Amino acid sequence: MPEIEKNILLAPHTAINLGGKAKYFTECQNESDLIETLQIAKDKNLKFEVIGEGSNVIFQDEGYNGLIIKLTGENIEITDETDSDVLIKVWAGTNWNKFVEWSVNKGYQGIECLSGIPGSTGATPVQNLGAYGQEVSSTIVNVICLDRNNFRQLNFSGSQCRFDYRNSIFKNELKGRYIISYVVFKLSKVNEPEIKYSDLISETENSVEYNSLLRRDKRLEFIRNKVIDIRRRKSMLSDDKDTEAKSCGSFFKNPVLTFYEFNEVSRKISELGFDMPFYKFNDKYKIPAAFLIERAGFEKGYTKNGAGISKNHTLALVNRGCTTKELLELADEISNKVYKNFRIKLNIEPIIIK
Ligand SMILES: Cc1cc2nc3c(=O)[nH]c(=O)nc-3n(C[C@H](O)[C@H](O)[C@H](O)COP(=O)(O)OP(=O)(O)OC[C@H]3O[C@@H](n4cnc5c(N)ncnc54)[C@H](O)[C@@H]3O)c2cc1C
Repeated sequence: MPEIEKNILLAPHTAINLGGKAKYFTECQNESDLIETLQIAKDKNLKFEVIGEGSNVIFQDEGYNGLIIKLTGENIEITDETDSDVLIKVWAGTNWNKFVEWSVNKGYQGIECLSGIPGSTGATPVQNLGAYGQEVSSTIVNVICLDRNNFRQLNFSGSQCRFDYRNSIFKNELKGRYIISYVVFKLSKVNEPEIKYSDLISETENSVEYNSLLRRDKRLEFIRNKVIDIRRRKSMLSDDKDTEAKSCGSFFKNPVLTFYEFNEVSRKISELGFDMPFYKFNDKYKIPAAFLIERAGFEKGYTKNGAGISKNHTLALVNRGCTTKELLELADEISNKVYKNFRIKLNIEPIIIK
């Protein structure tokens, strides 16, 4: 039976190292631990939240007046395979990067560009984890959940999850309704690594080393290592020794604009003497939030009251000795200035747990 501890400081359970104490705290390593804990929470009428590795959550300075359930442990199981594909069922508490490493080592393709992203596997569908041209949604076949009220298991197909850019049904309509216990992925045994992102293209197409790799699994491994190198340069890895990594990753989402909105902001940017960078995103335009933040006058490394913009990545807000209140004040300062200059509202990516 999982032990329920009292008055546990939450900051060390988050990547950004912020947050006061949880009244109750427990870790669950598997589904039966989780169901037992949910039963306790129900019997004692405790409010609760489920977290993984805390890399995309921000707790309040006051802490959390309820039970925080942290999913840990590891379980990776091949449930089916053909000559071309493999189905893999992964326990939610499994460290994501370990699962990516395991897949790449086996020569399974589909998530190699998502190497090095901090967090648990169960959190990946919540915000449709993505980086360097890949999104986890393109490999998810099923998300297996427990209903928070009656602990019944429910199976969501990939399309039922309504994945979108850093978004899914679990962040919207079904927010707080289900706990993800397993994710089932379909990875390819035959596809070549996906190289869409410009930094990766330049480091592979022009690389003698990459072009001389004869084995597909070695090419997958090469891409994984390249992605990790790029992430390290941007402090986008979980690394206790790197003070710039004390963040939630990207704090702001890249705005997705209609044609009209895009033209408006492009005009304002061209008045400042710049061209607006953009990516076509279905029938809309995705623009880099980092570009807007920089043009609004913020530089990498800007710090106020111990909260700062990363020296290596404009989108990441870093804890240099701040409180949650001070971090959120900096976030407001940035988004207010971007709005004042360009009439674009920046949406934040991390989840603030109250
Ligand atoms: C340095 C750094 C770099 C990052 N880079 C990227 C990146 O490149 N791309 C990207 O997409 N993200 C990135 N992130 C954000 C983060 O890694 C992901 O959002 C990750 O999936 C969070 O996993 P976690 O286990 O830490 O989730 P947590 O932070 O613990 O939780 C996040 C949210 O998911 C919910 N949740 C967690 N587990 C479950 C579950 N089993 N069932 C239901 N709800 C659950 C929580 O309640 C919370 O709302 C980065 C973060 C950091 C710190």
